[in-house]
Amino acid sequence: MAKKHNTIALIAHDGKKADLIAFVKDHRAFFSSFHLVATGTTGQHIAKAGLKVKRMLSGPVGGDAQIGALVATGRCQAVIFLRDPLGMHPHDPDISMLLRLCEVHDVPLATNLSTAQLVLEGLAARPDFSRPKARR
Ligand code: PGA
Repeated sequence: MAKKHNTIALIAHDGKKADLIAFVKDHRAFFSSFHLVATGTTGQHIAKAGLKVKRMLSGPVGGDAQIGALVATGRCQAVIFLRDPLGMHPHDPDISMLLRLCEVHDVPLATNLSTAQLVLEGLAARPDFSRPKARR
């Protein structure tokens, strides 16, 4: 399984929290093998499900930005961010920043459950996953 020093960030908008928590519970052994970080309320649910998680601030008050900083400094190896495309979010600039930083730093980013499943399967199969070489 994965190297324990690897970190996965978990974030879900309110309309997607139930999906994310069910996904995490369904793959408890996988997620237990990573350090988990999450935005505040998402993290509260994950902790209630019995997993160890470092809780950042709630998304609207800076949690996404804190996770963005982890991505930018190489301290987060994958992000699962179940966004609610039908909701309005006061912190859209922070969300865009986090997504952009995943692109800039080539960090795997899943924004829906199907991609989350593929990221999970990829990391489970290749715990030593290293990024493809970028050509500029
Ligand atoms: P929350 O933040 O986990 O604190 O609800 C998620 C978000 O809206 O970015």
